[in-house]
Amino acid sequence: MSGEQVPRFIFVTGGVSSSLGKGLAAASLGALLQARGYRVRMRKFDPYLNVDPGTMSPYQHGEVFVTADGAETDLDLGHYERFTGNDATRNDSVTTGKVYKQVLDRERAGDYLGATVQVIPHVTDAIKEFMQAGLDGEDFVLVEIGGTVGDIEGLPYLEAIRQLRQELGPQRSMFVHLTLVPFIRSAGEIKTKPTQHSVKELLGLGIQPDMLLCRSENPLPEDARRKIALFCNIGVSRVISAHDADPIYAVPAAYHEQGFDGEVLAGFGLPRHPEPDLARWREITRRIRSPEGSVRIAIVGKYTELRDAYKSLSEALRHGGIANNVHVEEDWVEAEQFDRGDIVGRLDGVHGILVPGGFGERGTAGKIGAARFARERKVPYFGICFGMQMAVIEAARSLAGLEEAGSTEFGPTPEPVVGLLEEWIADGQVEHRSEADDKGGTMRLGNHTARLAAGSQVAGIYDALLVEERHRHRYEVNIRYRNRLEAKGLRFSGLSPDGSLPEIVEIEDHPWFIGVQFHPELRSRPFDPHPLFKSFVEAAVTQSRLV
Ligand code: GLN
Repeated sequence: MSGEQVPRFIFVTGGVSSSLGKGLAAASLGALLQARGYRVRMRKFDPYLNVDPGTMSPYQHGEVFVTADGAETDLDLGHYERFTGNDATRNDSVTTGKVYKQVLDRERAGDYLGATVQVIPHVTDAIKEFMQAGLDGEDFVLVEIGGTVGDIEGLPYLEAIRQLRQELGPQRSMFVHLTLVPFIRSAGEIKTKPTQHSVKELLGLGIQPDMLLCRSENPLPEDARRKIALFCNIGVSRVISAHDADPIYAVPAAYHEQGFDGEVLAGFGLPRHPEPDLARWREITRRIRSPEGSVRIAIVGKYTELRDAYKSLSEALRHGGIANNVHVEEDWVEAEQFDRGDIVGRLDGVHGILVPGGFGERGTAGKIGAARFARERKVPYFGICFGMQMAVIEAARSLAGLEEAGSTEFGPTPEPVVGLLEEWIADGQVEHRSEADDKGGTMRLGNHTARLAAGSQVAGIYDALLVEERHRHRYEVNIRYRNRLEAKGLRFSGLSPDGSLPEIVEIEDHPWFIGVQFHPELRSRPFDPHPLFKSFVEAAVTQSRLV
C-alpha cells in the first residue's frame, strides 16, 4: 500500500477544552491505520513561543520527550511512539518558536527579497513547509494541532491547514475535530452545545470538520449524535462517540468499535475491509485488567504532584508489569520530605525503589537517602539519569569514604564525583559545552551507544554487549573515580565506546541495584517492554515474596 507520491494528511484539532486527550486520540487513529497495513507518520504542532519544550518546567508542560535523533519534544510524541512503535524524529515536533526562528533567520539573511514579512503568507507558508518536510513515502501523515480552537496563538496553524486543504483537495486531506460532550449531573443530561459552538468557531475560520470525535464519560446516545450531525453539517456515521476508556491501550479497539477508522478510510475513498487485526491491543488490555499479582514501587522524585511530568516512566513501569503479569502500584514519594523526615518508615515494605531523572539540588538529600536505604536493605533499586548520579554520590560517600562527594550541578565541590563534561566526542566530532552556554539544547541528547561489560548483570538483562539508548543530561559521572568505587563493589558495567563516560553502574552484591545515565523509559513500548523495566519489575515480584 506504500509508495504513492502524495501522502494523505489528517489534521486533528481540539475544541471546547484542553486535556481531552487529543494526543492519545491521534495516536489511536495512527495505530488503527497501521493495523490495516498503512504506513503512518505522526506530527505535533504546538502554538507556544519556546523553540522547543526543552527549557520548559515539567510542572508547566509535563515531561520532555526526547527522540532518538536528539530533539526535545512534546510528551504527545511519547504516545505516538508507544502506539505506533515508530521512532519519531525532530521533524515531528514543531512549535511557533521554531517556525518564527526560521522565518526570522530567513528575513535576516535577506531571503524574502525586500518583502514585508507577515504572518500570512510567510509564517503560514513556513508552517505548511514544516508539515510536509522530511516525509518518506508514508500513506498517512497525522498532524495534531496543540491547544484549543479559539486560542489566538493557534490561528496561523488553522489558516495553514485551511490552505493545505485547498491545495491537497478532499481526497488527500481530512479534518478531525475532537470536542467535549459534557454530562451535566444536576440536569441529568448531556450537552451538545459546546460542540456546536466549537464547530461554528472552526467554520468561521473556513474549516468544516469532516469528522467529529466526541469525548464523553459514557457512550454518546443516538439522538445526541443525530443532533450534533444535523447542526454541524456532518453525516451521523462521522460523529464518533469517544467515551472514556481505561486503560489507554483500550482506546484503539474502542474507537474501532465505534467505526472511527472505517469512516476515515471511507472519507478518503479507501476500502473499509479487511478489518484491522487488533488482537495484540486486546491482549495487553486483558493483561492490564486481570493481573495475577501486584508490586509496589516507590518513585522518589521531585515533580510528583504532576503525573504528566513522568509520563513515559509510568508507562514503562506498566509495560514491565504487562511482561510479568502483575499490576505495578506506583507509590509517589516527594523526595524533599526526606531531606528532613523519616526515610525508613516511609520506604519500609516497598518492593522496589526508583529514582527518576531530575534537575537541581532540591530533594537530593532524600534521593541519596533512598539509594542508601535500597542498597543497605537489598531492595531493588533503579536509578535513572539523576537517579544514577545520586546512587554514585551515595556509594562514594558511604562506601569509598569520600564524605564530600557531590555534583558540580549544585556548585563547586571538593570531590566532583558528578561533573560537567566540557568536551566529548559524538559521531567522530569534538563537541564542547561550558557552564556559560545557553541552556536550550546544550545537553547530551538522543541516542548514544553504551558498551556493556561481559558477564555483568546488565549484559544478561539486555542479552547484548552494545546498546543504544536516549540521553538528556548535562552532567556525567566522573570516570576518574572508577577504580575507587569499583574497589568497593560499585561496578561500572556500561561505558561510552571510548571508555570516557560511565553509562551504567551496578552493585554486584545486591539482587538488583542498577543506575543508568540514559532514559530507558523513552524506548519502552507496550508490545515490546524495555528489558530493564521488565527485569526491575521481575526483581520487585521476587522481593514481594520476601517481605
Ligand atoms: N540534572 C542531571 C544532569 O543534567 C540529570 C538530568 C536528568 O536526570 N535528565 O546531568
